[in-house]
Amino acid sequence: MPRAGAPGGTLAAVSFRPGPTLGVQTSPTGGQVEYALAKKAIVRDFKKGRLSRLDVCDAHPELLRAATNLGRTTGERCPICEDVDLVDLTFVFGSKLPSGGRVVGSPAELNRYWRRKDPVVCYVVEVCCGCRWHHLTRSYPAGAGVEAVARKSLRDRTGR
Ligand SMILES: [Zn+2]
Repeated sequence: MPRAGAPGGTLAAVSFRPGPTLGVQTSPTGGQVEYALAKKAIVRDFKKGRLSRLDVCDAHPELLRAATNLGRTTGERCPICEDVDLVDLTFVFGSKLPSGGRVVGSPAELNRYWRRKDPVVCYVVEVCCGCRWHHLTRSYPAGAGVEAVARKSLRDRTGR
């Protein structure tokens, strides 16, 4: 359960950082970037034995805790252990937010970011609480300047 009085928490210890990742800019979804290709490459290398579980299943304990408490089930099986369903965690970055990002605790909280006057960038990370696999799946801008149509298409796409 989320801690009372601190929806989402700040999770300073997670310090998720996007970093340089092989993303594919998709359009016209308002700047959404998909990271499916990078994920496929990692999963393929794992299946071929080029990467071990130690290489790919290294989620920080704080990230796992956030995923357990705040993650939203995806209905998708973990590609590594094939034993546990993945959950999605959304981090937001922007002005007046912690430098390590902030975990979104609920759909209502995510809506507040969409309505913000200041722009934010959302990063969605999928996490397996079983084997500690985690992967950045997509990023997209929200808040100021993002068209409502982009938001709608994003919703349709994710089915939520
Ligand atoms: Zn797993």
